[in-house]
Amino acid sequence: NSFNKFELNKQLLMAIEDMGYTEPSEIQDKAIPLIMEGHDVLGIAQTGTGKTAAFLLPILMKVKYAQGMFTRCVIFAPTRELVMQIDAAITDLAKYTDIRHVSLYGGLGPKTQIEKLKAGVDIIVATPGRFMDLYLLGEIPTKEIKYLVLDEADKMMDMGFMPQIRKILEVIPRKRKNLLFSATFEPRVEKLSEEFLEAPIKVEI
Ligand code: AMP
Repeated sequence: NSFNKFELNKQLLMAIEDMGYTEPSEIQDKAIPLIMEGHDVLGIAQTGTGKTAAFLLPILMKVKYAQGMFTRCVIFAPTRELVMQIDAAITDLAKYTDIRHVSLYGGLGPKTQIEKLKAGVDIIVATPGRFMDLYLLGEIPTKEIKYLVLDEADKMMDMGFMPQIRKILEVIPRKRKNLLFSATFEPRVEKLSEEFLEAPIKVEI
């Protein structure tokens, strides 16, 4: 299996095999080594390219060895559907690990989400609005967050999420890795990456 070259652990390689992935996609080939090396990455890739696993696999690799009460990765996506998709991908890829994750989105009561947060989660996948609501309730331990992902950043801008994202970033530690994915590369995406990413490497497919 040609995912071997990425230095992923056995648990992840087994899950990849279960998924039936035999070859990394182009975005995975380009982005995974950079994220593994610790770079901030600006990924320009559309849905269907395998972009989700491109950022999840290295994150699952890094987050794995630092279990604790505090969340260490937050992934933001613009819609409930996308949040659910990313969360399902974590369920699949992390199935042989002990990584705990939760998806936070509106449209239903926060009770179950809060219960999961209280039990401790390593990775949060969230829409910005619900994340902020639960943060303001004191339910999200932000101080150990080391990875921030903005998925479909162009769509997040279209939907007017940026002011909220800026507020959220004020409560997340500055020393962290940032990954920004967008289907399109346009001046506003470039500006956003200059604002949020540190010496990012751009990967375009
Ligand atoms: P995404 O672009 O992340 O929405 O992924 C699109 C679809 O491709 C999903 O159903 C993934 O499970 C699948 N996928 C991701 N990576 C691979 C791969 N290397 N080989 C085959 N399918 C993949």
